[in-house]
Amino acid sequence: NPHSELVASRLRDVADFPKQGVVFKDITPLLGDGHAFREVIRGLAARHTGSPSRIDAVAGVEARGFIIGAALALELGVGFVPVRKAGKLPGDTVQRSYDLEYGTATIEVHSDAVADGDRVLLVDDVLATGGTAIAAWDLLTSCGAEVVGFETIVELAFLGGRVALGDRPVHALHVVG
Ligand code: IMP
Repeated sequence: NPHSELVASRLRDVADFPKQGVVFKDITPLLGDGHAFREVIRGLAARHTGSPSRIDAVAGVEARGFIIGAALALELGVGFVPVRKAGKLPGDTVQRSYDLEYGTATIEVHSDAVADGDRVLLVDDVLATGGTAIAAWDLLTSCGAEVVGFETIVELAFLGGRVALGDRPVHALHVVG
């Protein structure tokens, strides 16, 4: 799979970030390579062009999900919905909290960000435990969207995100472990 190889060649492993014992997958080399960035966005978009899989919007979670999601939205010719950390959006919002290893996180979207029945594609750079993706998915669903799938550049399979996402469709360009 050429996209998987391209991603692998532009990923940097950073040991002990953000804490001891974690190997962080850094996508900044990929973002910094214009050809690779464009190919990856095209790879994510390829499965969502054509009428059967028509989508109305792309949603991405702050912060790296904004970079990937905005580029993907442009490629697909649809709007972008920012899913933000609590307290950043100026209008009326709907929130969802989820558990982290230590403590909880809260994400939110504007209450009018999606219309009832909108087909929304959710995107992020990395799928790890799946906690973020599930929270964003369920938040968008609670706003009336039909979330059609989760797209990611990198899946850390050993952290079980795909299993945690259950029957929600997941696609990754590059799977680690
Ligand atoms: P999860 O909620 O455990 O699936 O973690 C996924 C979220 O954390 C995504 O928003 C990712 O951007 C971020 N994340 C987790 N691990 C990594 C990593 O190794 N590299 C980059 N981002 C990561």
